Amino acid sequence: MKKSMMLHSNLFKNVNRGFIMVAAVSGGLFLGGQQQASAATTPAPVEINQGFAHTTVGNTKKYVSLTFDDGPSPTLTPRLLKILKKYNVPATFFEVGYNVKAHPATSRLVLKYGHTIGNHSWNHPDLAGMSMRSAKSQISRTDKVIYKATKTKPKYIRPPYGSITHAEIKAFNRPIIQWNVDSLDWSYLNAARTANHVVATTHGRSIILMHDIHATSVAAVPSIIKRLRAKGYVFVSLDKQFNGNLKHGYQYFGYGDYRK
Ligand SMILES: [Zn+2]
Repeated sequence: MKKSMMLHSNLFKNVNRGFIMVAAVSGGLFLGGQQQASAATTPAPVEINQGFAHTTVGNTKKYVSLTFDDGPSPTLTPRLLKILKKYNVPATFFEVGYNVKAHPATSRLVLKYGHTIGNHSWNHPDLAGMSMRSAKSQISRTDKVIYKATKTKPKYIRPPYGSITHAEIKAFNRPIIQWNVDSLDWSYLNAARTANHVVATTHGRSIILMHDIHATSVAAVPSIIKRLRAKGYVFVSLDKQFNGNLKHGYQYFGYGDYRK
């Protein structure tokens, strides 16, 4: 209990440090707004994501992170990558091992476009319902096939259905990334309804769950980006959202919502 509280306070300390920087910038922006004629008071934009050079932070803490599960798909994932590039949005792709085995070049493409790859098990079982030995094998097989394809080890794990035991969280030794906005894209299979649902249910800092194996989900992305940006949201990587402070042994549902 004590240990977890300590971790909490450490996280918040780091977060506060991040906020001081943002507050300073937004103070500058506010002044700039009051004296629009004076270019000298306009601060330089703050780059928040290497490789996504045009994203800047103003007076906002409304960070959202897009995550796409169950791919890679050889047709839909590349289509999505082009959309994300057009809108300059980073994302995390939680890939399933057997799809990586079938489409390793698509996994490489995800990294080439500057995104992050996570481990979503080998063939999408309910990890909580299986033996530790089988669950570990689901993760390690997927690590290996992703490494073979991309020469990188997935930074995060997302259990299928969000289903994982405390013992598995401990054993997997990596941050477990859950979500707090579920697009329900698989149930709608309709781009407009998917976009409407995501926009309506995103409040504050969010991890948004979608799937890059449905054409309708990919088609929903431009509308989601444009409408959330219009509401002041900034699309950031998970690393940026959590100030690079994601820890193994925890599952993260959203900013400020993480559990052992
Ligand atoms: Zn999944």
